[in-house]
Amino acid sequence: MLRPFALLAAVAVALAVPAQTRTVSLIVAHGTIVTVDGGRRVIPDGSVAIDGRDIVAVDTADRIAAAYRARDTIEANGSVVMPGLINTHTHAPMVLFRGLADDLALMDWLQKYIFPAEARMVSPEFVRVGTRLAALEMIESGTTTYTDMYYFEDEIARATKAAGLRGVLGETVIQFPVADAKTPADSLALTERFAKEFAGDDLITPAVAPHAMYTLDPDTLKACRALADRLHIPVIIHLAETNDEVKTAEDKYKLTPTAFLDSIGFWGPRTIAAHAVHVTPDDMAILARRHVGVSHNPESNMKLASGIAPVEAMRKAGVTVGLGTDGAASNNDLDMFEAMRQAAFLAKLVAGDPRSIPAPVALEMATIDGARVLGMDTLIGSLEAGKRADLIVVSMASPRQTPMYDPVSHLVYVTRGDDVTTTIVNGRVLMRDRKVLTLDSRRVLADARAMAEKVRAAVK
Ligand SMILES: [Zn+2]
Repeated sequence: MLRPFALLAAVAVALAVPAQTRTVSLIVAHGTIVTVDGGRRVIPDGSVAIDGRDIVAVDTADRIAAAYRARDTIEANGSVVMPGLINTHTHAPMVLFRGLADDLALMDWLQKYIFPAEARMVSPEFVRVGTRLAALEMIESGTTTYTDMYYFEDEIARATKAAGLRGVLGETVIQFPVADAKTPADSLALTERFAKEFAGDDLITPAVAPHAMYTLDPDTLKACRALADRLHIPVIIHLAETNDEVKTAEDKYKLTPTAFLDSIGFWGPRTIAAHAVHVTPDDMAILARRHVGVSHNPESNMKLASGIAPVEAMRKAGVTVGLGTDGAASNNDLDMFEAMRQAAFLAKLVAGDPRSIPAPVALEMATIDGARVLGMDTLIGSLEAGKRADLIVVSMASPRQTPMYDPVSHLVYVTRGDDVTTTIVNGRVLMRDRKVLTLDSRRVLADARAMAEKVRAAVK
């Protein structure tokens, strides 16, 4: 039994306004919070408190209102609040080649259009204009972190940082002369300079980006690994994208691409292998053993008829699989909602089983598993106190999204990038109520159209 004094004290505590109300920079309030945390919590009327670059609390709207006061509040009524999407593979400036040539065999497409266009067009200005356009598209469709492999990557990094996005960015290392390097050694020197310029940066993670095993000799591949180990930075590579690549590896080395790269000691932690379409069970065991993350790009694989990555089998073998769009020339957009949906549909179709890659798994692939692939899961990929404030607000008010029984189902099966209303990275609001704050949209689009005229002339 409670003594009167204790009872009074208890009542006083229950009624008191908390003496300690912490002031924070931003609260995203009254949304359906899809956390993708360890317990996969979904909070029907929840809020996220953000201070500076970090999330400080994720809880019911009442509890957040009681404990925090914010200098700025974004109302998320009727919306889902979720972690920003993580695109684990793209080539951002290729948005400028979007729709330039479609419906061609891969080698025709590359040799008649993409390589000549790149040889004539790629310059610092080209990648700046392209990256700004890609950043605008990503911010508007809810991507907060992306992985890139292209040329003049330092320019891409500066444009990415100015737009406020997070990037894991690597200068392409390839055997033939390219716009910014005559030899792979030149590319590696550029990579080292780039990595030093952005070391410790809050948004940019420099990476080493050898193009693929079939476009590089073993010594260069080993040099890429050595540089990544020396600088403690991630590695990005295309892996087993096509049957041609498998045949090349077989002819040259009598091994699969994955086994060949293992045989030269290429694999290591924080390595992102894009595609992994043609991998055997032995390859999957290697990828799991070496903790290599895979980026699955269902739309690019379908459009270029590269094949179907065995996502379910890789996951069962213990390989972490994230999602990517690949460059916009082979997709043709950077919408990660579409990547989620297509990944789920394709897995079901190929398995002959609608239970394959259910909605919660597709969502994890685009968020927390993407973060794991990049080795950044302690920082991003879910809404949890202590992580970076990378989050988006997704309107669920349209006829297409009505009614909503299950927010996770809606995010995967009906949502489109255009439904994103607000995008926040590192605690900074990049888009609010569909208005992008870090880029001059009109200027970005005008510059892109002007650059497209030059591309058109170059491939004539
Ligand atoms: Zn690619």
